[in-house]
Amino acid sequence: MTPASVQTAQSASHPEPTTAGDDPVLELEGLVMHFGPVRAVDGVSLRIRKGQVTALVGESGSGKSTVGRCIVRLVEPTDGAVRLGGTDVTHLSRKELRQHRRDVSIVFQDPAGSLDPRMLVGEVVGEPLRLQATRLNRRERSERIQESLRRVGLRPEVAERYPHELSGGQRQRVSLARALMSEPSLLVADEPTSALDVSVQAAVLNLLADLQRDIGFACLFITHDLSAVEYLADEIAVMYLGQLVEVGSRGEIFAHPRHPYTQALLSAAPVADPDKQRARTPVLLGDDLPSAMDPPSGCRFHTRCPVAVPRCAEEVPVLRSVGDGGTVACHLVEQDGTGPDIRTDAAPAATTTATSTTSTSTSTSTSTSESLT
Ligand code: SF4
Repeated sequence: MTPASVQTAQSASHPEPTTAGDDPVLELEGLVMHFGPVRAVDGVSLRIRKGQVTALVGESGSGKSTVGRCIVRLVEPTDGAVRLGGTDVTHLSRKELRQHRRDVSIVFQDPAGSLDPRMLVGEVVGEPLRLQATRLNRRERSERIQESLRRVGLRPEVAERYPHELSGGQRQRVSLARALMSEPSLLVADEPTSALDVSVQAAVLNLLADLQRDIGFACLFITHDLSAVEYLADEIAVMYLGQLVEVGSRGEIFAHPRHPYTQALLSAAPVADPDKQRARTPVLLGDDLPSAMDPPSGCRFHTRCPVAVPRCAEEVPVLRSVGDGGTVACHLVEQDGTGPDIRTDAAPAATTTATSTTSTSTSTSTSTSESLT
């Protein structure tokens, strides 16, 4: 299986760069997760290095959240391997998972649903300390909780309130405080802002960027919001129907997307300049995302790809390194990275369904942010 990892390029719009070390914090090798006949994830290989933010993007139903759940072992993978800091955690026992859970945390999309409404905020944030049986006395515990709350921009008094007494943005800050309490080496952030009001999405996104820069944890940022990706990510992994189709540095993917699906996603992403936005014509893809119970033969994207050739329906494209960085799974991309660009080369045929199906906007300090898929 080809490891999907490339070097990072930083741009001026990005927050202060973090120092991504060479050591992989996370390695996925041929990860497979099937739920009965549903092939949610089908052979995903990915590496995330220390201090690196990797965005996992794709439409709803592409399997990206399932990848996150496999990493934190909320579900046990059907096949393949999940390695955290070099340790294989794919099939750890419940007891062994305790250490694993210290090394990796997850923040969910909906803070209201992920916080126990019967627990005070202080109990919620301090729960990792209890689960890990740390030997802190009551005062030390309280100080750690208050420090965590301050770190995410909440007053210490919030510890005495219940989650339902807080706003959505405050609840997501509590989720972040809890997730970072155990000082994990990897944070899985699963659509952390998409359930929030537009007015607070940017603040939470900025907080996540600040925390990541200050603490230096690696992050798998699962999202369909490409503007947030442009702001936060070092590397981007694009997923389609349970498989990775392209991985590359943020700079490379935004400047030269090689896979037709990546090109379609980017063509639907809004830009901050209204004149440029008006001048753009998003690529529209025919048909909906096919069923993960019966994925298309060959390239899974061939039923929607405007430049597909007969070979695409028969032969599975391998994710391979091309050009001077990045990996892509497409028969038509040459070894030097050149290939078709459906934004200019192809007039899409049956244009019944746009890649962009929903849209919520968020202003960040650097860009306008809207949902894409
Ligand atoms: Fe399109 Fe064929 Fe490339 Fe798949 S392999 S993305 S169908 S051109």
